[in-house]
Amino acid sequence: MMLTTTQIADCLRYQGLFNGEKCGAERIVSDKIVVSRKDHPHCFVCFGSMRAGSHNRVSAIVWDGEFLSSRVCEICCSAMAHSDLDKIEDCYSLGEYRQNGYLG
Ligand SMILES: [Zn+2]
Repeated sequence: MMLTTTQIADCLRYQGLFNGEKCGAERIVSDKIVVSRKDHPHCFVCFGSMRAGSHNRVSAIVWDGEFLSSRVCEICCSAMAHSDLDKIEDCYSLGEYRQNGYLG
């Protein structure tokens, strides 16, 4: 499943990635959707793995005075594209579960 041109534009319009309690960005340095050239281990949101050839939202931000880069998988991008807040929250919960083994 790849994102459509419309989904890409809509996903980038979703700014909740940077201003939620998880990530209060001071400045967005770059923010784009790329086709990943290799596999990546962890999505910033759901902590799932990302395969080469899939769409990823790759962002660089300044957070707490430090550079932070994030990569978000296609499934989370799709939830953002549709501004589906329930689904986005599910993605964060899944990430928490994958990292901690339980929901905090
Ligand atoms: Zn994800």
